[in-house]
Amino acid sequence: MSVIDLRSDTVTVPTPEMREAMANAQVGDDVFGDDPTINLLQEEAAAMLGKEAALFVASGTMGNLSSVLAHCARGEEMILGKDAHIFRYEAGSAAMYGGVQPNTLPVQADGTLDLNQIRRAIRGNNVHFPTTRLICLENTQASAFGAPLPPDYIADVANIARDHNLKLHIDGARIFNAATALGVEASELVKDADSVSFCLSKGLCAPVGSVVAGSREFIERAHRVRKSLGGGMRQAGILAAAGLISLRKMTRRLHEDHATARQFAEGIAQMPYIRTDVSRVKTNIVYFNLTADAPIAVDELSARLKADHGILMRPYDVSERSVRVLTHYWIKPEHVERTLSAMRALLDPVRAGRERLSAD
Ligand SMILES: *Cc1c(COP(=O)(O)O)cnc(C)c1O
Repeated sequence: MSVIDLRSDTVTVPTPEMREAMANAQVGDDVFGDDPTINLLQEEAAAMLGKEAALFVASGTMGNLSSVLAHCARGEEMILGKDAHIFRYEAGSAAMYGGVQPNTLPVQADGTLDLNQIRRAIRGNNVHFPTTRLICLENTQASAFGAPLPPDYIADVANIARDHNLKLHIDGARIFNAATALGVEASELVKDADSVSFCLSKGLCAPVGSVVAGSREFIERAHRVRKSLGGGMRQAGILAAAGLISLRKMTRRLHEDHATARQFAEGIAQMPYIRTDVSRVKTNIVYFNLTADAPIAVDELSARLKADHGILMRPYDVSERSVRVLTHYWIKPEHVERTLSAMRALLDPVRAGRERLSAD
């Protein structure tokens, strides 16, 4: 029985085509700027995002940290969502290595930060205050069902940033999911931003790596930060070879992952003891909760799915009885069907039994 891994889109192993490209990649020492495959990846990524330059980095965390440190000096402040990955899941790196102070705002259900709250969070010119330097948006916003932030909202935030002489960074770990869901080019979603980072290693299936893009001058600074973080790699073209396939091919098929996410959400919405909101599923992330009277707890559900069916699904918040599911390249409609029948067997055994009988 093959494993169905719905824990994250980071579990995507490289495709056979990627492995072949990696084996045959032309490489050089990227610290000297000599790796032709890295250089090509950076050029193509910059072009796709409509930016002057791009930089390959080891991870999304390194991409965000290099960007934040390239924009902010010690003691300066960045405004971002309380549920932003940069704030919650990056080990406090901006504070740890950059002395950058976060000023957090609630993330709304649609993934946005309220514009008036952003305006109010910007510090005035007063010796008591830290200097506000940066606004960070996350697109898609993972905590909000992977909500894609549309271009007009980003333009509004960029205008606020410009009016106050701030920079705008977009944590676009899943920017191509956002572009796909909104039917626009990724460049449209970042044209007003000073910097953007995105992951090759999530839905785009590459084994390792992220990319940062922005002006040439910004990338020079981010490059120096990357070096200081130990992110100067040598024959990294081995990795970039997979990343090029991510850019050229994997960005064009993400609608399939959005369809399987919706298929999953529509399926569980029919089940007893489950609360979800199908209308919020616009990309590849689904959250659901088990109701208080459910016959099983979320950690039990996850353990049973794993032991009995080879289905991996991680509880997101046990006290909230919530689970987060992500779809990706290796999840096909038949895997979703298998997952739904396994969940039905655990949550709705009577109906599952009836279906089994009528199938016999
Ligand atoms: C995964 C992710 C990152 C960080 O990427 P890593 O490669 O895990 O360091 C940053 N932001 C968001 C929104 C992410 O989902």
